[in-house]
This record gives sequence, C-alpha cells and structure tokens, in this order.
Amino acid sequence: MAQPFSQSKTYRDLSVWDFTDLTEEEAHEKFVMLRWGSTTEMPCPACGALDKHYVRRQRRQWRCKHCDTVFSVTTGTPFAHRKLPFRKLLVLLYEFITAPEGCAANRLHSRLRVTLRTAYQNLMKSREALWEKRDLSPLKGLVQVDGGHFCGKPRRPRKRTKATSAIVNNRLRNRKAGMVPHNKNSHIEPWNREKLKKRRIVLTLRQVSPVPGEGAERSIVAVVNSENARHVIPAIRKYVDGASEIWSDDGNGYMSLSAWFTHRTVRHSAEYATDDGVNNNHAESYFSRMRRGEYGVYHGMRPQYLAFYANEFAWREDVRRMTLAEKFSELMQKIFGAGPSKAWKGYAQGNRLGLEYLG
Ligand SMILES: [Zn+2]
Repeated sequence: MAQPFSQSKTYRDLSVWDFTDLTEEEAHEKFVMLRWGSTTEMPCPACGALDKHYVRRQRRQWRCKHCDTVFSVTTGTPFAHRKLPFRKLLVLLYEFITAPEGCAANRLHSRLRVTLRTAYQNLMKSREALWEKRDLSPLKGLVQVDGGHFCGKPRRPRKRTKATSAIVNNRLRNRKAGMVPHNKNSHIEPWNREKLKKRRIVLTLRQVSPVPGEGAERSIVAVVNSENARHVIPAIRKYVDGASEIWSDDGNGYMSLSAWFTHRTVRHSAEYATDDGVNNNHAESYFSRMRRGEYGVYHGMRPQYLAFYANEFAWREDVRRMTLAEKFSELMQKIFGAGPSKAWKGYAQGNRLGLEYLG
C-alpha cells in the first residue's frame, strides 16, 4: 500500500523541538524572520517605509526613522499586545498545524502552562486569520457540493419509541434519534426541541482536480441557516463560477441548480456513485473529518464561531499535501496578513463580538 504523505519523511521537515529548544530571544528572532525575512530591515507598519529603523532592544521594539511610530513584530497582526512568550506562541501554532483533526485548547493549556482561556483565545485568533485570508475567488471546473448539519443537537428523548422504518434507517446509518428531530414520532420534549434553533448547515463546495486520483484541490465553506434553495443557491452562485459543473446529492435545496450550472446528481437513497461516476464523495470526506473533529476533539461547536471551525477544516484539507514547514509558513503568512483580530481583541478583558459569522 502506498504510504500516505502525512507519514512520509518529506512531510516531517519541522518538529516541536525546533521551537521548544529556543531561548525567548531566539524565538523572537524567528518571529521577526517569519514576518519580514530580515532582523535589521523591515517596513514600518504605519507608513510602510522600508529601512533599518532605530532599535529598542530591551523592549523588542523599533522606532520608525520616518514617522516616529514605535512598533513591534506583532503590530498590526492578531497577536498585537500579546503577553504570551514567543516561544509558547510558536509551539501553540505548531501544535495547531500538526493536529490531523483539529486542536482543542483543552489539550494545549497544560502543555504550555497557560490558562485555558489564553490557549483558546490564541487558537481562535489563528482560526480567524485563516477565515479572514481565505481565497474566495470562484471555484471552477468540477465542483462537488453538500451540506452538513452542525450545532443544536437535542438530547435523546426520555421515552423510547417503537421502531418505525425511519428510525431503523437512521440507526443503520448510525444517526442518533436527536439527529432526526423532524420525525414526528421522536417525542422530543419542548425544552429539548429548543436546541434545534441552534442548528446550522455547513455548506461545503469543493473543486475537484482534473487529474484522476488527486482529489479536491480547493474548498470554500459557508454557514447557512437551512439546507433549502433559499439559503444554499445564493451561496453556491456566489462562490462557484457559472461555467462550472456541479455534482450534488438529490436534496431538494439543490434541485434548481440546473438553472445556472451544469448540474448532475447522485441519489443517495440508492447509491453513492452513479454508473457513470457522478458522486459527491469529496464533499462527504470533508464532513467525515469535520464530524470527527466535532465529536472527538472539540466535543461541540457553537453557531457564533462555527464558520471559523468549518473553514479550519477546509484549510486542513486544502494544505494536506504540504510539508509541515510549508504549512507553518502558510499559516504565518495568513496571520501576518490578517490585520488585528476583530473577534478576539480584548477577549480577556470581557470584549465579546456578539454576532454570528456566516458565509
Ligand atoms: Zn513609519
């Protein structure tokens, strides 16, 4: 059997020792190199002048020779005003990129000897940077589309019900009773039904490589309120080029796609791929990973930042053929380009954004 790339020697070109063995001074230098590619000459974040600015070595700052602005390596990035030492921050980011199915703050805080909130906030800033800097240029060629239900899961009802064909079908497909709330026989208590209001749909759009065996090459995700035409069609039209061919399952929401695209469907009640190969398995494999992340790593997501998590998984899929060092520098470029954090600035001081991110 061919070796997966993520288990090959080529993949392992960066390790946690590359960061844990650094002194704080060296870690800072590494950060500077990652951002500017030089420790002596850099553009001023305020006026953009590229120069050898005055150094304030003790404070790890520079003063611009042209506009007098004092800046540091994190000025104008999500990590501005951070207190976490650079060494810990580098280890945190390294752990974030190496985790195959997501990286929970609960796993990191003890490792880094920081509070849970610090680990959570910095991980969320990284997710936010991935979200802010995602590539939204329209997908082209063959695009597979599907929606997955996340958040808002009622508990199993107290009373068990007689097995109807719908229940048996769901059990065979490994779905809990709470996953099929619209079934009238499921006897969900009113307080339990309330949880459904938090149900959201992650819509995934994946551009498939024309080279057989290469899988999906780029993914865009959007969070919508329901998997019907009113919600999914505008999102698909926004992110997919009109000349593309779309493959989806036979869900009602997708039926009118043929008005704008070449549209082919696979009927999931009968088959996972049609005889001439139409399927949406690449979209399904994205959900398979995200579902494992939801159940096994994060243990749940909330609607407010669901889009960040959904996009994190799309990013993990899209960079799966990069080596660790390439992934690390890809993440850092997005972080340095993302600007100050909107959702997580002042989080420790009680600032909350209070809005929900949608696609
Ligand atoms: Zn300046």
